[in-house]
Amino acid sequence: MELHKLTLKQAAEFSKANPQNAKELFNALKARAKAIDSKVKAYLSLIEKEPSFETKGILAGVPISIKDNICIEGCETTCGSKILKGYVPPYDATVIKKLKAAGAFIVGKCNMDEFAFGSSNESSAFGPVHNPWDLTRVPGGSSGGSAASVAADEAIAALGSDTGGSIRQPASFCSAVGIKPTYGRVSRYGLVAFGSSLDQIGPITKTVEDAAILLGVIAGHDPHDSTSANLPVPDYTKSLVKDVKGLKIGLPKEYFVKGLDPDVEQAVRKAVKIYQDLGAKIVEISLPHTSYAVHIYYIVATAEASSNLGRFDGVRYGFRAQSSNLSDMYLKTRDEGFGAEAKRRILLGTFVLSAGYYDAYYLRGLKARTLLKQDFEKAFEQVDLILSPTAPTPPFKLGEKVDDPISMYLSDIYTISANLAGVPAISIPGGFSKELLPIGIQLMAKPFAEETIFRAAYAFEQATDFHKKKPTL
Ligand code: GLN
Repeated sequence: MELHKLTLKQAAEFSKANPQNAKELFNALKARAKAIDSKVKAYLSLIEKEPSFETKGILAGVPISIKDNICIEGCETTCGSKILKGYVPPYDATVIKKLKAAGAFIVGKCNMDEFAFGSSNESSAFGPVHNPWDLTRVPGGSSGGSAASVAADEAIAALGSDTGGSIRQPASFCSAVGIKPTYGRVSRYGLVAFGSSLDQIGPITKTVEDAAILLGVIAGHDPHDSTSANLPVPDYTKSLVKDVKGLKIGLPKEYFVKGLDPDVEQAVRKAVKIYQDLGAKIVEISLPHTSYAVHIYYIVATAEASSNLGRFDGVRYGFRAQSSNLSDMYLKTRDEGFGAEAKRRILLGTFVLSAGYYDAYYLRGLKARTLLKQDFEKAFEQVDLILSPTAPTPPFKLGEKVDDPISMYLSDIYTISANLAGVPAISIPGGFSKELLPIGIQLMAKPFAEETIFRAAYAFEQATDFHKKKPTL
């Protein structure tokens, strides 16, 4: 077997057997990345230093790739932005500490949309990522590099971050598994902030089992993140039981509307049938504030982003423009350092927070967010899970939406609600379009019900073969 094709579970077993194996595996992944990444462009940097080959820990010797907005001590962290070029964090994010403690190796830092603003990876200052299934198409975003690295077998598994779909939508576009945990499940310490009330780090993997193992490693309370929940972390692998009998799965009627690609709709309908055959009960539900989700998100997320990005001023981090005086230096650094999408978000966010518009936009956006959250609370009184498409379409062509931000923003329609409501959500491989492009299926559950998600996702995966298909590169 070619080593780069191993799942996380298999890789951990292989490496544990012998430290020499771990070394072989790490080198196999790096060789794979060197051979094909000129086409995929999933990585911004590869870790050149050989790690010390540990055999202890549940991820001993497992090579993992990391989105470039997660800090690793001594490794450049750019967030896909020119403004952070050259920034080398002096500390590890909590998730990195946990990965290292579990024995994992970091392969490299993954390309991403600038500051995680985007759904196609095209806003990266360092060029786009190409979808391994069709190099003329986008891998999704913003964790496009993380998802592509897993799909192309350039990493055994990856970490991404999700503010409005950035783990799930690229997982869907690349036929990988991606889970956004409940808000507070995973520490955000060392994740460069985009929308602090929405951001979560999560796994992108080849299988549901791998995601369950990896989430178990990175989850948990952290005194460095006051929003991380002080709750025990269950053994998620215990939920992988291939049984959904008696589970109630809701289908939101507002989700099956114009704009949903027919191939995607058909894949979701097939998934419904599979769940019925497995013994789950399907119920139609309503999430009445769905049509406001994109509007709410682009108020709340940009407001938070504009505030979070205030710290990039040329003094503290990364890039500094040449100039003759201080205020000129601030202006030039931000003008030259940020790309178009980052500037658009800073302008929008500053506008909705400004004195004359705060009540009309930001405050109203927060109130509407509460209504949307209540939609989910009500729905979860009725059902255990909500099933939906992850994205309205299969992966689109590179360049297709770059000049049309609204159409780009609409591609997040099914994913952003989970962030606004704080609930966990997974995307799993759900089939292929007529053009043989990946389609993802999303499952959401109530806060901290990741176990229910894993149970249902695993049952679906075991009943289907979609996750076994690989792109030919
Ligand atoms: N695509 C969404 C956006 O552009 C979500 C991004 C994310 O989750 N980081 O904001």
